[in-house]
Formats: sequence, structure tokens, C-alpha cells
Amino acid sequence: MTIRKPDRPIAVTRSALPPLEEYVEMLKPLWESAWLTNMGDYHERFKKQLKERLQTENLELFVNGHAALELTLQAMELTGEVITTPYSFASTTHAIVRNGLTPVFCDIDPADYTLDAEKLEDLITERTSAIVPVHVYGNPCDVDRIAEIAQKHHLKVIYDAAHAFAEEIGGRGIGQFGDASMFSFHATKVFHSIEGGAVSFRNPTLAPILYQIKNFGITGYETVGYVGANGKMNEFQAAMGICNLRHVDESIAVRKTLAARYRERLSDIKGIRLCPERPDVKYNYAYMPVVFDGYRKNRDQVFAELAACDIHARKYFYPCINAYDCYRDRFDENDTPIARRISRQVLTLPLYPELSMEIVDLICDIILS
Ligand SMILES: *Cc1c(COP(=O)(O)O)cnc(C)c1O
Repeated sequence: MTIRKPDRPIAVTRSALPPLEEYVEMLKPLWESAWLTNMGDYHERFKKQLKERLQTENLELFVNGHAALELTLQAMELTGEVITTPYSFASTTHAIVRNGLTPVFCDIDPADYTLDAEKLEDLITERTSAIVPVHVYGNPCDVDRIAEIAQKHHLKVIYDAAHAFAEEIGGRGIGQFGDASMFSFHATKVFHSIEGGAVSFRNPTLAPILYQIKNFGITGYETVGYVGANGKMNEFQAAMGICNLRHVDESIAVRKTLAARYRERLSDIKGIRLCPERPDVKYNYAYMPVVFDGYRKNRDQVFAELAACDIHARKYFYPCINAYDCYRDRFDENDTPIARRISRQVLTLPLYPELSMEIVDLICDIILS
């Protein structure tokens, strides 16, 4: 088979952009009011729209997803140890460590790469205060089992839902599970506000605390009650979010057709594993992770072959967080052997609405050739 090359380099993703006129139209009122940040009109409008879209009663906006997670952990006044997964983006563990808490790594489920709830209880000590699981690639965690264990041991559950925008489990918005869920609206995500993030949460008394902590801890006109940070979303971000929200369903629908083609071409191939799709879950098709386990080419070979054709898949997530240089002396990735193995076998393939079906086929041709 002769392999064609695409006309231009193909990256793993491409940021969604609304029609330029739509965004420019949104900017005009900002030039009139000169109110550019600090919870302006767009901030409030975006927040209201997101509550509806994510089916959640309580939600607070942030300048980015990481700040949302880090400041939510602070607002919950956690102590001691927090159980999390090493198979995620740096942000998840960094948010724990930057709060002065000790991460304890739980291994992952070999099928969907989320935290393995059956391994949780062995890691709980009298110092454990919370669990921070990740709906990795948009694969929902075992929310029922995690809730059961958390309740039994009086632990808080804060989901990193950065990959799970607009997803539903059994018809319920994914942000309804646990005590809180963090969403990221970074430019590379399914839905974005350039940079941005939000937290949905169960207990409404958390609302003023999150609001204050993201605003330097200012609690009153002349009082500062918390050692807060600056985590405010500005009006340009909120305007982009409002524009993109109009188009996100359409974009998820296109992603779905592309993901289906990848599945059609790559499932039932010996040594290639795709994530299972649960019938009770509404997915957002954010990522296309493929695991090469006993395939005639290994992950690094496939990565190199695609790169030679100017197609840039990502080793996402590699390395595991517990193998990072900054954590080298504190953790050992051999403690989570499944995460370690998957991180060496996984490749995330290009997936975004402007990607053509021809390129998806080309990528599959290269993998299968
Ligand atoms: C993107 C991401 C974050 C951080 O979100 P930002 O908005 O980029 O700060 C956290 N966790 C995971 C799993 C992510 O993919």
C-alpha cells in the first residue's frame, strides 16, 4: 500500500473557534462599559448558561481548570492524604501537593484507565481526607462504588472532570457526582473559553467560599478572611465561552462520527485496544486513545510512523505523574503497575471536528499497514 501524506501537518487537536463576527459582536459592549473582569455581565451570563448545560445547581467559574481544582481543594479544608490517580495530566496531583496535602496513588482499571475503585480501600488510612479521581478521556469513573466507599470512610470526593464536559451518566450531568467536579475550558478541550474552568458542587454553602478564595480571600469591604489567590475568569474568556457554547453540540456530533470511523477500522484488531463504550453514558468524544498491547508494532513505532507522515499523535499520558522528575524522590511508578504499562502503550490519535474522514482513514492505514 502506498501511503499518501496530508497537505499540512496534522496535530492531535485543533482549537474550536466561533465565526469571528460572533465574537467581535460580543466585544462591543465591553468597549462601552469598560468592565473587563471581576465578575461582569458575561461572567454571570456564562455561569447561568453552564449551570443549565451541565445540569448542576451550583457552579463557580475560574480563570482556568487548574485554579478551579486547586482552590476547591483549599475551600474544602482537606488535611493529610488524598487518594488520586497517577494516570492524568500534571494538574491533578499538583493541585493536591500545592495545597500541602500528600497524594497517595491508586492504580487504574485496565479497561477504561480510570481509578480502580476496588483498590481504593486498601489505601485509606486515618489520615485520608479525600479522593480525587479523574474521568480520564471522558471515561466516567465508577461513581457509585466511589460514593459508597467515600461515605463509609467519611471522605470528600472531588472529580477532575476536565475531559468530561457535557457528559451524562444515566441521563444525569456528570458534574452531579461527588462533592465537586472540576471542568477545564482550555483551548485544547472539547469546549473552551480560551483558558477557563469551572467547579460544580453539591453543597451550596461552598459558593461564597469559592467566590472569595478566587478573589484573594476578600470576604468583605474591609476584611480578608482567607489566604486566597487570583482565580477570576475575565469577560473576554466568558464571551468566548458563550460563543462556543452555541456550537459545542454540533462539534461533539462531528467528533462522534470521526470516532466511530476510528472504531470501525481499529476494533477487533489483535493487539489493539480501544476503550469500551458504556450504553448508559453520553460521551463527548474528546479523545481517541488507542493501546498497543502485543500488536506487531509497538506504541513508539506507530508514533514514529505517523510523525514521518507529519501526523502528530500524542503519548497522552506518558509518563505517569508518579514518574515525574519533580516527584522522583517521593513516589515510585512501580506501585501502580497498570498505569505504568498503559502509559507505555497508549497513543492518543488526532480528533477534532475539522479533521476529515480521509485523514482518519489515512491514520488507520498507517497503523494497519
Ligand atoms: C486540561 C486538564 C487540567 C487543567 O486544566 P487547565 O484549564 O488547562 O488549567 C486538569 N486535569 C486534566 C485531566 C486536564 O486534561
